[in-house]
Amino acid sequence: MRKTTTKLADGRELIYFDADDAAPRGAPDLRPLDPVAPRSEVRRDPVTGDHVTIAAHRQARTYHPPADECPLCPSRDGRLSEIPAADYDVAVFENRFPALALGTAAAAVVGTGPLHLSSPGTGRCEVVCFTADHDLSFADLTEAKARLVLDAWTDRTAELSALPGVRQVFCFENRGAEIGVTLAHPHGQIYAFPFTTPRTARMAEQAAAHRARTGRNLFEDLLAAELADPARLVLAGEHWTAFVPYAARWPYECHLYPNRRVADLTRLTEPERSEFPKLYLELLRRFDRLFMRAGHTAPVAPTPYIAAWHQAPTLGGDELALHLELFTIRRTVGKLKFLAGVESGMDAFVNDVSPEAAAQRLREVAS
Ligand SMILES: [Zn+2]
Repeated sequence: MRKTTTKLADGRELIYFDADDAAPRGAPDLRPLDPVAPRSEVRRDPVTGDHVTIAAHRQARTYHPPADECPLCPSRDGRLSEIPAADYDVAVFENRFPALALGTAAAAVVGTGPLHLSSPGTGRCEVVCFTADHDLSFADLTEAKARLVLDAWTDRTAELSALPGVRQVFCFENRGAEIGVTLAHPHGQIYAFPFTTPRTARMAEQAAAHRARTGRNLFEDLLAAELADPARLVLAGEHWTAFVPYAARWPYECHLYPNRRVADLTRLTEPERSEFPKLYLELLRRFDRLFMRAGHTAPVAPTPYIAAWHQAPTLGGDELALHLELFTIRRTVGKLKFLAGVESGMDAFVNDVSPEAAAQRLREVAS
């Protein structure tokens, strides 16, 4: 893997990850771009303790551009995009409209008392282009290309974790217009947060309670339990295991863990890295085969999904386990699960598909 770091016209960083050492990566960004001055702040909700990022400068960002104006395609035929090169393998760049940024202007209105605590939205938001081919999906990548994406996620986790003020690095992919994706080009994002995210904080609390109760690690016990009773098991590799969680919140939800507990992507060994692409691509392809109309053999439409890497925060994550949570908001052909009153209002999920039936379905659609 070769890594080349360059700058875009407005000073943002662009990083190429290439399989081929010979690919030319010196093309300059010729666009007349003014730097964007991000202004965001992190406010603490005094009632729940959750952090909320307020980033009002993002309202002007690109929204569903036509395919011939895709900012993630390479720059070709006189059309200039975010990637100056005429081709690329995997490219990562700083988001032009980041929710979090280093050197973000301090909030205009600062906290006015102990119940109104605010801090600058320090951090970084990056875009990860999985391939130069606009019409592919992650599931269409070769294993070698998927491995390059894993290497890029790993590199970014290491670099972003070392930035001042960063507490947690979150790599994810939103796929499908139903999820709210505004660019069709296959890509994901990385958020480097200045706080531990609420879901991770809750997991750390549960793991600490489990340790106090049993003397053991929650995630190690969980993986052993799922392997012992395979009702929810989906894939079992030599180094990774995928299962539907016992209390799945989403109609189809699958969690992929390395069998050896590690805190984050940087701790994976070479055998774990080299097995990951095969299992993850198989999982994504199964998700695309979940929804078929009766009598048809091809999926009705690509399955919208969210793929979320859970990594331990830089402080206090000793009991946590690296894993990927993959889920779709589609319940059945033509029907989406919307987060309505009970979910959005109360964080109380109602799932219409039993986790055991979901696991059965995910085994049926194996390649
Ligand atoms: Zn594109």
